[in-house]
Amino acid sequence: TFDYAPAPESRSVVDLSPSYGLFINGEFTEGTGSTFKTVSPATEEVLAEVTEASAADVDAAVAAARAAYTRVWSRMSGTDRGKYLYRIARILQERAREFAVLETLDNGKPIRESRDVDVPLAAAHFFYHAGWADKLDFAGLGTDPRPHGVVGQVIPWNFPLLMLAWKIAPALATGNTVVLKPAETTPLSALLFAEVCQQADLPPGVVNIVTGAGATGQALVEHGDVDKVAFTGSTGVGKAIARSIAGTRKKATLELGGKAANIVYDDAPVDQAVEGIVNGIFFNQGHVCCAGSRLLVQESIAEEVEARLKRRLETLRVGDPLDKNTDVGAINSREQLDRITELAAAGEAEGAERWSPQCELPSKGFWFAPTVFTGVSQTHRIAQEEIFGPVLSVLTFRTPAEAVAKANNTPYGLSAGVWSEKGSLILWTADRLRAGVVWANTFNKFDPTSPFGGYKESGYGREGGRHGLEAYVRTGA
Ligand code: NAD
Repeated sequence: TFDYAPAPESRSVVDLSPSYGLFINGEFTEGTGSTFKTVSPATEEVLAEVTEASAADVDAAVAAARAAYTRVWSRMSGTDRGKYLYRIARILQERAREFAVLETLDNGKPIRESRDVDVPLAAAHFFYHAGWADKLDFAGLGTDPRPHGVVGQVIPWNFPLLMLAWKIAPALATGNTVVLKPAETTPLSALLFAEVCQQADLPPGVVNIVTGAGATGQALVEHGDVDKVAFTGSTGVGKAIARSIAGTRKKATLELGGKAANIVYDDAPVDQAVEGIVNGIFFNQGHVCCAGSRLLVQESIAEEVEARLKRRLETLRVGDPLDKNTDVGAINSREQLDRITELAAAGEAEGAERWSPQCELPSKGFWFAPTVFTGVSQTHRIAQEEIFGPVLSVLTFRTPAEAVAKANNTPYGLSAGVWSEKGSLILWTADRLRAGVVWANTFNKFDPTSPFGGYKESGYGREGGRHGLEAYVRTGA
């Protein structure tokens, strides 16, 4: 039957065990590798001890995924696969509070965001893909779409549960089985998700979770029995993965970095645009691949927009991520904090003007005040390189053509925003932007029905929507 057991009453708060194993073939196992600690970025307290999967552990996980693929999952009807996905979605909803708290503890993001964005969107991805599982013949995927087999998936730390959902839901809906490696600084929600798979009675081996750092990821993507690789992370690692699988039978999709432009024309609704600029770069501490990290504002309103933006930033509450009033939480790791600090120093050294609102940062943990650089030129490092933190670079332009030229002038092409009262100007601009997603008079809006992915060094392949299914099937004519 497809009834599911309700979560036990005692599970209303997060239950952090001192140590976690790997999830292989439907069970938690100790693994053969060493262990590492995952800490709260807000306090530096150790949250849990987690297993570092060895190559032998990865081998066991891939073997479990292969067996589950051959014996069960590839033979199951789409209708039945869909029922499992619906069940997972409903359990995610039931355990939403637990997931939100765990994600905030491990990642440092404000609880309001995990509660209102990460967890509901993760459930929405499972609901959406559950609906596709028995309709693949009608998805325009070509004749007789078939799964690839075993998929190796590697994800980053900025949206741990949501990135997991983006990866696992379409893979399972299309009949593939999965070995997923979460990022080393945020492994906990993936392990809680493993519990959800058990609770949903998902056949053992259909989903396997191996925790660890880059070496574990590398062992997974280079494994000889993995048919497809799906990676989200930095452009540098994405290129290394593409090189390592070149010449093999493996298919790959790569979702990489970004340096999005948020273009504000002089007829834009300024209050709304300022909210969009703030959401664009300070949502999730700017740890967002599609963050609006470059504000391109038309020269005639630049002074007004900068002034209003600074006034608005004075009201942002930075601090305890578990406090429901917090707007900006902790930086995910010391390493990431060092990267942001170095790039911000480069911004000053290259001559841009640095500004931050008054805010008292906690004495423990990893923190970086919201920061705005004005007087930025296109050649500055802070206008070209992904900072992946709460740092906005402001540039100005005079004409729409100049806005488009500046927006396109980075190695990336993931997303962009355009603010104007004129629909025709928004469409003219969007048509010329080399970006996978263009938002009109809004920013950072996500929906499982919309494909997401990049141009240029932001990667290839799409996730979400009908297009996202294409990456997980091979088809006839
Ligand atoms: P990262 O590339 O350092 O790590 C990503 C994952 O890859 C981690 O799980 C890591 O352990 C693993 N990894 C590291 N080296 C590996 C190797 N050689 N082989 C296989 N796996 C390896 O990135 P990060 O710092 O965790 O995440 C931030 C980056 O992710 C940013 O560049 C951001 O833009 C990007 N990102 C992109 C999207 C998108 O959809 N385009 C979404 C979120 C994040």
